[in-house]
Amino acid sequence: MDQNQTQPARVVIVGGGFAGVYTAMWLERIWLGDRRIDVTLISRNNYYLMTPLLFEAGSGVLEPRHAVNPIRPLLRHTRFIEAQVEAIDLERQKVVARPEFEEQYEIPYDHVVLALGGITNRSFIRGSEGALTFKTLGDAIFLRNHAIQLFERADVEQDPSRKSALLTFIIVGAGLVGVELIGEMTEFLHNVRKSYPNVTCKDLKFELIEAGPRIMPELDEDLAQYAADVLRRRGVNIRLNTRVGSIEEDRLQLEDGQILRAQTIVVATGVAPNPLVAGLPIEKDHRGRAVVEPTLRSGQRPNLWALGDCATVPDPQGKPYPPLAQHALRQARVLAGNITAALRGAPLKPFAYKSLGTLAALGHYQGVGRVLGFKIRGFVAWWVWRSYYLFQMPRWSRRIRIMLDWTVALIVKNDVVQLDLFGDQHPAARSREKNQKASA
Ligand SMILES: Cc1cc2nc3c(=O)[nH]c(=O)nc-3n(C[C@H](O)[C@H](O)[C@H](O)COP(=O)(O)OP(=O)(O)OC[C@H]3O[C@@H](n4cnc5c(N)ncnc54)[C@H](O)[C@@H]3O)c2cc1C
Repeated sequence: MDQNQTQPARVVIVGGGFAGVYTAMWLERIWLGDRRIDVTLISRNNYYLMTPLLFEAGSGVLEPRHAVNPIRPLLRHTRFIEAQVEAIDLERQKVVARPEFEEQYEIPYDHVVLALGGITNRSFIRGSEGALTFKTLGDAIFLRNHAIQLFERADVEQDPSRKSALLTFIIVGAGLVGVELIGEMTEFLHNVRKSYPNVTCKDLKFELIEAGPRIMPELDEDLAQYAADVLRRRGVNIRLNTRVGSIEEDRLQLEDGQILRAQTIVVATGVAPNPLVAGLPIEKDHRGRAVVEPTLRSGQRPNLWALGDCATVPDPQGKPYPPLAQHALRQARVLAGNITAALRGAPLKPFAYKSLGTLAALGHYQGVGRVLGFKIRGFVAWWVWRSYYLFQMPRWSRRIRIMLDWTVALIVKNDVVQLDLFGDQHPAARSREKNQKASA
């Protein structure tokens, strides 16, 4: 770093998920409040989501707020801005952000870090923009409320085919997210059912649809087979080598023409690039993710860095790392070190990481995975999964809340309260009121 430099180096991180928050945290650790660096983190929410805990937040085992971590208490020297990033002007080196209900404004940078993550891929299936997704805290809360509402309706529904559609739950995509979601749903919905005298176990139908030849390609074949057996025993109908042709509001058509009726269709069909990154004039892979060197720096623009789900980072064999939190977290540390090295004129280090393993929770105290080369299944896998993610959550105050939620859930079963988060303020309630007035 130029010792005579009077202005601090301005580093702007866009996106406050695992990648962005941990980059800011590592920069703080390295620079310890040194005024020669000025770090800003911009994200649309003032918390980051611990995605592996989203399934339990959706089923109510965890209080939804406990599956997220507030960003501000984690950062002492970083300026945090809660805003939507609307554009990044690479020529003028400015990020354009808009806080909710406010005017947009520009934040200049010397180095920009893209940590914007991805969105659920809806490009494969016609009509999937109308289906549910499972990626944000809002998605989890919505799905829970939606499912409970369906039980309320099914309990009084007289028409058998309509009742069947109300109680059919379809997940499209049997990767880790799809499998974990259906695993948690089987547990949650069977517990919920007990409060509805006119809904029997047999009324509940679960469909897991996968275009590939097996579920969970992220895991060894025998482990995936174990998970499939567990799910089938719970009544999940797993359709492999099955392509979905289109999705409409309450039905799904398979490519062979078969129609499945359901009021709940969730697409878990992988990650698509963040549209902001996909629109930038930089090198991108075929999926639209920013291409960076193993150092996480752009080969074209030395002041542009990218990591996490919005980037394609080559491993030592040149293959991109999969979009997983465990990679985003570790990339953040290397990226913070490399920005520091770049500012100080020191050599950069490549990111290289061999995964310690992959774990999936299947609900009902069951799990499956491989850790440090060992294959684990059943209760042990579930316990390791929980312990691992508990300690991934920064700050003891959060961990204690989670442990309390888990303890309570061991004794008390899921409740059937629908959280009406907005009441009369909800846009749907307002539009109902408007319609009533118009027709009066
Ligand atoms: C349900 C689920 C379960 C998962 N389970 C696991 C698991 O068990 N293990 C594992 O390793 N990985 C898991 N993953 C994958 C993991 O969550 C992602 O790899 C990880 O979140 C990537 O981190 P990221 O910071 O790159 O992106 P994200 O976590 O997606 O963060 C991006 C951030 O940028 C913000 N943002 C986006 N666009 C804008 C904008 N225009 N303006 C302002 N802010 C913006 C977003 O709000 C978000 O906060 C799971 C994913 C899901 C969806």
